Amino acid sequence: MTTKAYAAQSATTPLAPATITRREPLPTDVQIEILYCGVCHSDLHQARDEWNQFVPTQYPCVPGHEIVGRVTRVGDKVGKFKAGDFAAVGCMVDSCRACPNCAQGLEQYCHQFPTFTYNSADKHSGSHTLGGYSEQIVVDESFAVKVSDKANLAATAPLLCAGITTYSPLRHWKVGPGKKVGIVGLGGLGHMGVKFANAMGAHVVLFTTSPGKVADGKRLGAHEVVVSTDEAAMAAHRGSFDFILDCVSAQHDLNSYLGLLKLDGTHCLVGAPEKPMPVAAFSLLMPRKNLAGSGIGGIAETQEMLDFCARHGISSDIELIPIQKVNEAYDRLLKGDVRYRFVIDMASLKTGN
Ligand code: NAP
Ligand code: ZN
Repeated sequence: MTTKAYAAQSATTPLAPATITRREPLPTDVQIEILYCGVCHSDLHQARDEWNQFVPTQYPCVPGHEIVGRVTRVGDKVGKFKAGDFAAVGCMVDSCRACPNCAQGLEQYCHQFPTFTYNSADKHSGSHTLGGYSEQIVVDESFAVKVSDKANLAATAPLLCAGITTYSPLRHWKVGPGKKVGIVGLGGLGHMGVKFANAMGAHVVLFTTSPGKVADGKRLGAHEVVVSTDEAAMAAHRGSFDFILDCVSAQHDLNSYLGLLKLDGTHCLVGAPEKPMPVAAFSLLMPRKNLAGSGIGGIAETQEMLDFCARHGISSDIELIPIQKVNEAYDRLLKGDVRYRFVIDMASLKTGN
């Protein structure tokens, strides 16, 4: 079936209307009418081919992996959903489902590489996958999660990437009471990191380059906010952190954050800047420290995160935009001008020009 979408045709062309094809639902597939899709900085990196060295972009590129919608059709063998249910799809639509990592529910680390929601080889179409900036998506039910009909659907969409990407490492590194935790960068990921680390009971310090975000940082749950260009404020935290979650989308000085860790502390990258960032060995040696990374989260953990959000009343702080404003939203992301996730109201794809 054909469906309307927004696509980039090259690294240098803005996103524009396009028509794409979705498969007819197979026995274990659900067809979802997309109501909302969050705008992740990864969408921008991918659409503009900034990750060319690692995952070159295939065009047309339809980004979008923070998808919430309504199930409209289900295959014969679908057990988890029925037409009319709300469902969500995040960064993955498939994996090998057999390797040791998949078997542990870590599909994001599938030995054969997961099938990402966009820009991955599509096992069905023979082409590449196309994401959520579209009216419809068809996905195997194992890679869709349930959304409560009580949820604020637009504010739920960003949980599917920004939420799980911050929740998973905070859980893995056992953030909780008695731990001092830093969150670097108050954007889509960072603001979810602040909310989660606070809800998990840690002492939360936000690092931002934007003095204008200090008050919001505290409102969102940071106990302290440090403007990272203030050297004296940075120095006051030397050697004191158990864990720092780095949510920054562009090049920055990792060494200054490594200096803030205590013995056996960990600095975990979730931000994925396009160019490598230098690390001095001495930043890690004295005292012993860890530099780590983390990628999204598995499907079971995504459902766990949604349930955690429901229990703690957590969702994303969003600015709802029509899809016609998506290029403007990308420009604003590059300026750090986001409070704190753009979410596309997909109804605009039907009605807008
Ligand atoms: P975003 O909303 O644009 O937020 C990024 C924030 O980083 C900005 O708001 C800004 O915060 C800070 N920042 C930007 N440029 C900076 C610079 N030059 N120096 C220091 N700080 C800077 O982006 P996002 O959607 O949260 O995504 C963040 C990164 O995570 C992206 O690289 C994205 O691709 C990546 N990502 C990774 C995964 C994963 O699985 N690991 C999943 C999703 C996204 P302040 O104004 O507070 O300084
Ligand atoms: Zn994302």
